[in-house]
Amino acid sequence: MFKNRKFLMFMLLSVLVLAACGGGDKESKDKDSGAKSKSSFETIKANDKIVWGVKNDTKLFGLKNPSTGEIEGFDVDLAKEITKLILGDETKVEFKEVTSKTRIPMLNNGDIDAIIATMTISKDRSKEVDFTDVYFEAGQSLLVKKGSPIKSINDLDSKTKVIAVKGSTSAINIREKAPKAQVLEFENYAEAFTALKAGQGDVLTTDDAILYGMASQDNNFELVGGQFTEEPYGIAMKKGSDDFVKAVNDALAELKSSGKYDEIHDKWIKK
Ligand code: GLU
Repeated sequence: MFKNRKFLMFMLLSVLVLAACGGGDKESKDKDSGAKSKSSFETIKANDKIVWGVKNDTKLFGLKNPSTGEIEGFDVDLAKEITKLILGDETKVEFKEVTSKTRIPMLNNGDIDAIIATMTISKDRSKEVDFTDVYFEAGQSLLVKKGSPIKSINDLDSKTKVIAVKGSTSAINIREKAPKAQVLEFENYAEAFTALKAGQGDVLTTDDAILYGMASQDNNFELVGGQFTEEPYGIAMKKGSDDFVKAVNDALAELKSSGKYDEIHDKWIKK
């Protein structure tokens, strides 16, 4: 009898301990799922800032000014204006550097709230992220040293070394458009342009808008061959960010109707 009581007490205690552990566990799980179910827009409003993923090495769109440490360009100015419309103040921003390869992983890790970084809206990417409306239209082209025999995409043969950047649509498209050419992939556009200048490749390929920025940094280089793809840029958020996407689309529409979009566009992009 005594033995049984002892056993019963032991069982009771065990159950209580287990229940307590289970309860704790459940509570932390609930907390986690609570954090996850919080939409990225709610997070932004709670933090009272937007963390934008921008390029740091892409003249005209996102380029770090070494003398001020500030990142400057069309994407950066647009991010500030969108932030102003959503949170009431353009200083409620934080900029983090992304490359073409790191931007989607950084978004999905929660390192950044949104990507505004010369990013083409594509079917494949739309499986991984939500996109806003198009905010800029670019097209893929070629950058060569002046005097190069390469004048268009048709001049790329099996001897041509084409420089592209990892994680870009440009690296994918060029294999389709010039299947014989050798493609050399670099981590970012600064490295890619350095490689072109060093003669590691014959041609660099990406969006014309980015290539214009490079050509303006060194007039030994020029664009050739016109656009051979369409690259509509969008701002990307985590999947399931309907409310955030809508807020940014509303802000874009407002910037277009107020003339602010044109002002920023004309400041960076010459037509
Ligand atoms: N717009 C193209 C892309 O999204 C090329 C520019 C870039 O690499 O960011 O891949």
